[in-house]
Amino acid sequence: MIDINVLNAVTYGVYVITAANNGKYGGFIANTVMQVTADTVKFSVVCSKNNASTTMIAESGKFNVSILHSYTSQTLISNFGYHSSREVNKFENIKYIIAPNDVPVVTEDSIAWIECEVEEQVDLCSHIMFIGKMTGGEMINDKAKPMTYDYYHDTFKAKSPKNAPTYQGNDTPSAKSDSQAKPSDPPAKYECTVCGYIYDPLQGDPDNGIAPGTRFEDIPDTWTCPMCGVGKSDFRKI
Ligand code: FE
Repeated sequence: MIDINVLNAVTYGVYVITAANNGKYGGFIANTVMQVTADTVKFSVVCSKNNASTTMIAESGKFNVSILHSYTSQTLISNFGYHSSREVNKFENIKYIIAPNDVPVVTEDSIAWIECEVEEQVDLCSHIMFIGKMTGGEMINDKAKPMTYDYYHDTFKAKSPKNAPTYQGNDTPSAKSDSQAKPSDPPAKYECTVCGYIYDPLQGDPDNGIAPGTRFEDIPDTWTCPMCGVGKSDFRKI
Protein backbone atom coordinates (compact mmCIF):
# COMPACT_ATOMS: atom_id res chain seq x y z
CA MET A 1 0.00 0.00 0.00
CA ILE A 2 1.24 3.48 -0.86
CA ASP A 3 -0.19 6.52 0.93
CA ILE A 4 0.01 9.25 -1.75
CA ASN A 5 0.35 11.87 1.00
CA VAL A 6 3.86 10.61 1.64
CA LEU A 7 4.89 12.07 -1.72
CA ASN A 8 3.65 15.50 -0.67
CA ALA A 9 5.86 15.41 2.41
CA VAL A 10 9.08 15.26 0.37
CA THR A 11 10.63 18.72 0.02
CA TYR A 12 12.14 20.35 -3.07
CA GLY A 13 13.28 23.68 -4.41
CA VAL A 14 12.06 25.31 -7.63
CA TYR A 15 14.45 25.94 -10.50
CA VAL A 16 14.67 26.82 -14.17
CA ILE A 17 16.80 24.32 -16.08
CA THR A 18 18.11 25.80 -19.31
CA ALA A 19 19.71 24.37 -22.44
CA ALA A 20 21.01 25.41 -25.84
CA ASN A 21 21.65 23.54 -29.06
CA ASN A 22 22.02 24.52 -32.71
CA GLY A 23 21.38 28.17 -31.95
CA LYS A 24 18.14 27.53 -30.05
CA TYR A 25 17.46 28.04 -26.37
CA GLY A 26 15.18 26.04 -24.11
CA GLY A 27 14.21 26.03 -20.48
CA PHE A 28 11.64 24.68 -18.07
CA ILE A 29 10.63 24.75 -14.42
CA ALA A 30 11.88 21.80 -12.38
CA ASN A 31 11.88 20.74 -8.76
CA THR A 32 14.25 17.80 -9.14
CA VAL A 33 17.67 19.46 -8.89
CA MET A 34 20.09 18.11 -6.32
CA GLN A 35 23.78 18.36 -5.48
CA VAL A 36 24.99 14.76 -5.42
CA THR A 37 28.76 15.00 -4.71
CA ALA A 38 31.08 17.53 -3.06
CA ASP A 39 34.76 16.67 -3.77
CA THR A 40 33.96 17.34 -7.38
CA VAL A 41 30.70 19.24 -7.19
CA LYS A 42 28.09 17.45 -9.27
CA PHE A 43 24.37 17.98 -9.69
CA SER A 44 21.62 15.68 -10.88
CA VAL A 45 18.60 16.99 -12.76
CA VAL A 46 15.63 14.96 -13.97
CA CYS A 47 13.97 15.94 -17.24
CA SER A 48 10.94 14.60 -19.08
CA LYS A 49 11.67 13.08 -22.47
CA ASN A 50 8.76 15.21 -23.75
CA ASN A 51 10.60 18.46 -22.99
CA ALA A 52 12.34 20.08 -25.94
CA SER A 53 15.13 21.11 -23.57
CA THR A 54 15.86 17.48 -22.69
CA THR A 55 16.94 16.72 -26.25
CA MET A 56 19.08 19.87 -26.24
CA ILE A 57 20.85 18.75 -23.05
CA ALA A 58 21.39 15.21 -24.35
CA GLU A 59 22.87 16.48 -27.62
CA SER A 60 24.92 19.39 -26.29
CA GLY A 61 26.10 17.78 -23.04
CA LYS A 62 25.43 21.00 -21.11
CA PHE A 63 22.77 22.43 -18.84
CA ASN A 64 22.40 25.35 -16.48
CA VAL A 65 20.20 25.87 -13.45
CA SER A 66 18.71 29.07 -12.03
CA ILE A 67 17.59 28.93 -8.40
CA LEU A 68 14.33 30.86 -8.11
CA HIS A 69 13.54 33.08 -5.17
CA SER A 70 10.38 32.92 -3.09
CA TYR A 71 8.64 35.86 -4.74
CA THR A 72 9.13 34.69 -8.32
CA SER A 73 6.40 36.11 -10.56
CA GLN A 74 3.51 34.04 -11.82
CA THR A 75 4.48 35.22 -15.31
CA LEU A 76 7.88 33.57 -15.11
CA ILE A 77 6.45 30.36 -13.63
CA SER A 78 3.83 30.26 -16.38
CA ASN A 79 6.35 31.02 -19.12
CA PHE A 80 8.79 28.25 -18.18
CA GLY A 81 6.37 25.85 -16.51
CA TYR A 82 3.43 25.54 -18.86
CA HIS A 83 4.62 26.27 -22.38
CA SER A 84 6.90 24.43 -24.78
CA SER A 85 10.14 25.80 -26.18
CA ARG A 86 8.98 24.24 -29.46
CA GLU A 87 6.12 26.75 -29.64
CA VAL A 88 7.29 29.93 -27.93
CA ASN A 89 10.55 31.79 -27.34
CA LYS A 90 10.60 31.63 -23.57
CA PHE A 91 13.50 34.09 -23.38
CA GLU A 92 11.76 36.87 -25.27
CA ASN A 93 10.51 38.90 -22.31
CA ILE A 94 12.63 37.81 -19.36
CA LYS A 95 16.08 38.77 -18.12
CA TYR A 96 18.85 36.30 -18.85
CA ILE A 97 22.54 36.11 -19.60
CA ILE A 98 24.63 33.69 -21.61
CA ALA A 99 26.95 31.70 -19.35
CA PRO A 100 30.52 30.82 -20.37
CA ASN A 101 29.27 27.45 -21.65
CA ASP A 102 27.07 29.33 -24.18
CA VAL A 103 23.87 28.19 -22.46
CA PRO A 104 21.45 30.89 -21.20
CA VAL A 105 20.71 31.33 -17.52
CA VAL A 106 17.61 33.08 -16.26
CA THR A 107 18.65 35.94 -13.96
CA GLU A 108 15.13 37.31 -13.42
CA ASP A 109 13.67 36.25 -10.06
CA SER A 110 16.78 34.17 -9.41
CA ILE A 111 19.08 33.91 -6.42
CA ALA A 112 21.96 32.21 -8.19
CA TRP A 113 22.86 30.13 -11.21
CA ILE A 114 24.84 26.97 -11.79
CA GLU A 115 26.61 25.81 -14.95
CA CYS A 116 27.10 22.06 -15.57
CA GLU A 117 28.74 19.70 -18.03
CA VAL A 118 26.94 16.38 -18.43
CA GLU A 119 28.96 13.36 -17.31
CA GLU A 120 26.30 10.67 -17.12
CA GLN A 121 22.73 10.00 -18.23
CA VAL A 122 20.37 7.57 -16.55
CA ASP A 123 17.34 6.45 -18.57
CA LEU A 124 14.25 6.45 -16.33
CA CYS A 125 11.77 5.50 -19.12
CA SER A 126 9.62 8.65 -19.03
CA HIS A 127 12.51 10.86 -17.86
CA ILE A 128 16.28 11.16 -18.12
CA MET A 129 18.49 11.93 -15.13
CA PHE A 130 21.50 13.97 -16.15
CA ILE A 131 24.45 14.08 -13.77
CA GLY A 132 26.66 17.06 -14.47
CA LYS A 133 29.92 18.44 -13.11
CA MET A 134 29.60 22.04 -11.95
CA THR A 135 31.85 24.20 -14.12
CA GLY A 136 30.67 27.63 -12.98
CA GLY A 137 28.08 29.61 -11.10
CA GLU A 138 27.42 32.93 -9.44
CA MET A 139 25.21 34.48 -6.80
CA ILE A 140 22.74 37.04 -8.10
CA ASN A 141 20.89 37.96 -4.92
CA ASP A 142 22.26 36.73 -1.59
CA LYS A 143 19.46 38.34 0.43
CA ALA A 144 16.49 36.52 -1.11
CA LYS A 145 15.15 33.19 0.11
CA PRO A 146 14.86 30.28 -2.30
CA MET A 147 11.41 29.15 -3.33
CA THR A 148 10.34 25.78 -1.99
CA TYR A 149 8.00 23.45 -3.83
CA ASP A 150 5.57 23.64 -0.92
CA TYR A 151 5.50 27.45 -1.21
CA TYR A 152 5.03 27.13 -4.98
CA HIS A 153 1.96 24.93 -4.51
CA ASP A 154 0.52 27.19 -1.80
CA THR A 155 1.15 30.48 -3.58
CA PHE A 156 0.24 29.58 -7.13
CA LYS A 157 -2.36 26.95 -6.22
CA ALA A 158 -0.68 24.94 -8.93
CA LYS A 159 -0.16 21.26 -9.48
CA SER A 160 2.97 19.69 -10.88
CA PRO A 161 2.90 19.99 -14.67
CA LYS A 162 2.27 16.73 -16.52
CA ASN A 163 5.94 16.36 -17.49
CA ALA A 164 7.22 16.74 -13.91
CA PRO A 165 8.60 13.62 -12.22
CA THR A 166 6.33 14.42 -9.27
CA TYR A 167 3.12 14.73 -11.32
CA GLN A 168 0.25 13.04 -9.48
CA GLY A 169 -2.47 13.03 -12.09
CA ASN A 170 -5.68 14.97 -12.09
CA ASP A 171 -7.79 13.45 -9.37
CA THR A 172 -9.42 16.42 -7.68
CA PRO A 173 -13.04 15.41 -7.08
CA SER A 174 -15.61 17.65 -8.75
CA ALA A 175 -17.94 19.66 -6.60
CA LYS A 176 -21.69 19.28 -6.66
CA SER A 177 -23.39 19.95 -9.94
CA ASP A 178 -25.44 23.07 -10.70
CA SER A 179 -28.63 21.15 -9.97
CA GLN A 180 -27.33 20.41 -6.45
CA ALA A 181 -26.18 23.96 -5.70
CA LYS A 182 -28.40 26.07 -3.47
CA PRO A 183 -29.09 29.73 -4.27
CA SER A 184 -27.38 30.71 -1.03
CA ASP A 185 -24.15 28.93 -1.96
CA PRO A 186 -21.21 31.28 -2.57
CA PRO A 187 -20.02 31.57 -6.20
CA ALA A 188 -18.11 28.44 -7.17
CA LYS A 189 -14.38 28.19 -7.64
CA TYR A 190 -13.13 26.61 -10.83
CA GLU A 191 -9.93 24.66 -11.38
CA CYS A 192 -7.82 24.53 -14.53
CA THR A 193 -7.57 20.85 -15.40
CA VAL A 194 -4.24 21.41 -17.13
CA CYS A 195 -2.16 23.25 -14.52
CA GLY A 196 -4.27 23.26 -11.36
CA TYR A 197 -4.73 27.04 -11.20
CA ILE A 198 -7.86 27.85 -9.21
CA TYR A 199 -10.11 30.73 -10.21
CA ASP A 200 -11.60 32.21 -7.05
CA PRO A 201 -14.52 34.56 -7.90
CA LEU A 202 -13.91 36.52 -4.71
CA GLN A 203 -10.44 37.45 -5.94
CA GLY A 204 -11.14 37.54 -9.68
CA ASP A 205 -8.13 37.97 -11.95
CA PRO A 206 -7.44 41.72 -11.82
CA ASP A 207 -4.15 41.39 -13.73
CA ASN A 208 -6.20 40.25 -16.70
CA GLY A 209 -9.17 42.56 -16.33
CA ILE A 210 -11.45 40.33 -14.27
CA ALA A 211 -12.68 42.26 -11.24
CA PRO A 212 -13.02 40.62 -7.80
CA GLY A 213 -16.54 39.29 -7.40
CA THR A 214 -16.88 38.11 -11.01
CA ARG A 215 -18.49 34.67 -11.26
CA PHE A 216 -16.62 32.23 -13.49
CA GLU A 217 -19.70 31.95 -15.69
CA ASP A 218 -19.56 35.72 -16.32
CA ILE A 219 -15.93 35.84 -17.45
CA PRO A 220 -15.63 36.55 -21.20
CA ASP A 221 -14.93 33.45 -23.30
CA THR A 222 -11.75 35.09 -24.55
CA TRP A 223 -10.23 34.88 -21.06
CA THR A 224 -7.47 32.29 -20.65
CA CYS A 225 -5.84 30.61 -17.67
CA PRO A 226 -3.25 33.07 -16.32
CA MET A 227 -0.95 30.20 -15.47
CA CYS A 228 -0.93 27.94 -18.53
CA GLY A 229 -2.97 29.76 -21.18
CA VAL A 230 -5.81 27.30 -21.87
CA GLY A 231 -9.41 28.50 -22.33
CA LYS A 232 -12.44 28.39 -20.02
CA SER A 233 -13.55 25.01 -21.40
CA ASP A 234 -10.55 23.40 -19.69
CA PHE A 235 -11.80 24.49 -16.25
CA ARG A 236 -14.11 22.55 -14.00
CA LYS A 237 -16.09 23.48 -10.95
CA ILE A 238 -14.61 22.41 -7.62
FE1 FE B 1 -3.96 26.45 -16.40
